[in-house]
Formats: sequence, C-alpha cells, structure tokens
Amino acid sequence: MLFLFDIDGTLVDTGGAGLQALEETNLSLFQAPGPPLDLAGATDLGIVDYIHRHFGIEASDKSINRYFDLYHQRLEWNLSRGGFPGKVLSGVHDLLGKLAARPGSTLALLTGNTQAGAAAKMRHFQLDHHFPFGAYGSDHADRNQLGHIALERAHTHTGKHFQPEEIWVIGDTPKDIACAHAIGARCLAVATGRFTVEELTAFGADHTVESLDLISNWI
Ligand SMILES: [Mg+2]
Repeated sequence: MLFLFDIDGTLVDTGGAGLQALEETNLSLFQAPGPPLDLAGATDLGIVDYIHRHFGIEASDKSINRYFDLYHQRLEWNLSRGGFPGKVLSGVHDLLGKLAARPGSTLALLTGNTQAGAAAKMRHFQLDHHFPFGAYGSDHADRNQLGHIALERAHTHTGKHFQPEEIWVIGDTPKDIACAHAIGARCLAVATGRFTVEELTAFGADHTVESLDLISNWI
C-alpha cells in the first residue's frame, strides 16, 4: 500500500509560522502584507501566483524563485526561533510508526508545500525520516496534478506500479479528497484542520476521522 500524507492540518500544525512567513515575504518584496489567503489545501505555487496577481505583477520563474528563497528563510526562522505554538497532531507518531513497521507499506508526502518548505517542517517536527519522497506544491500549482507526480516518484523509489485500490491519500481538506479521487485513490480525511467530519464526509471522503488516533479500524 502507498500512503500519501498531506502536511498542514494532517501531520502538524505550525501555529501560524507558515502564514506569517508569507506575510513577511510580501512585506519584504511588495511593502504590504498581501491579500487574505485561503491556505487550506492550496499549493504554494498557486498561492504565490495569486499574490503576484494581487500586486499586479506578472509571475516569472525568476520572481517565483526569488519569492520562495525569501519565504523559505522566513519559514525556517519562524519554525526554529519564532515562538509559534506548533505541534505534531494527535495520533500521528503512533500511526506513522505502525505503518512504517507494516511490510509492504510505502509512505510519502503529497502536499501543497514546496519541497523545501515541506522538508523544513518535517525536519522541525522530526518526522522527516518517515518520508523519503513526495509530490509538492513546487511541482505544480494544481493540486489535482500532484497525485500523478507522486505515483511517478513512488515507481522510481520502489520499482512498483501502485494500483488505485492500493493508494490512500490522508488529508484534512476537500482539496485532498479531490486530489485523491483524481488518481482513483481513496481519501482518509481527518478533521484536525479547518473542516469537520460532517463536511469532509459530504465532500466524498472514503473514510473520515476526528483525529488520527482514531484509525484503529482503518489500518
Ligand atoms: Mg492540509
């Protein structure tokens, strides 16, 4: 089985370190904190494109790279020294430990974070050893494309072609559910982000739990 994990609201809560890093980057580059952002399930490429449009600036590879360079510095600083009340979410350590010990399990990330942003968050919360590869919000602005990228990388990494029924996407938003279904996979939705069990179920999650310590029936 292939288990593809979202980060924010699913594995960890950064306590606002990421949002503040975006606002600080906007202040540095555009002299304003930027527009209100709907971060739930968004990709970082999509967010940065939206911020550029908000400021009336055309996004180019150069301007996006410059944005991400600064954002990554701010994020690293906020995580390590910013005093944000971040945490690993309930049940995550136990679930990852159980899955890692299960023969035939492959764990990876499927996240809207950039690869560097995801790595910074996973290192900070000491979860990085669980996730040798992933698909990231720096790969594509459309989250529904990230599942295909994750499958290609899973093949490169393991030599296996995972079938849709062998894949679970674990996430906390309707966008995680859509992204799972875009590759025919199932979604385990967890209500530790902004959405309730009822909402996630209504959006078509294949299994929904209040938190990841309530998955004993699932695995
Ligand atoms: Mg999330």
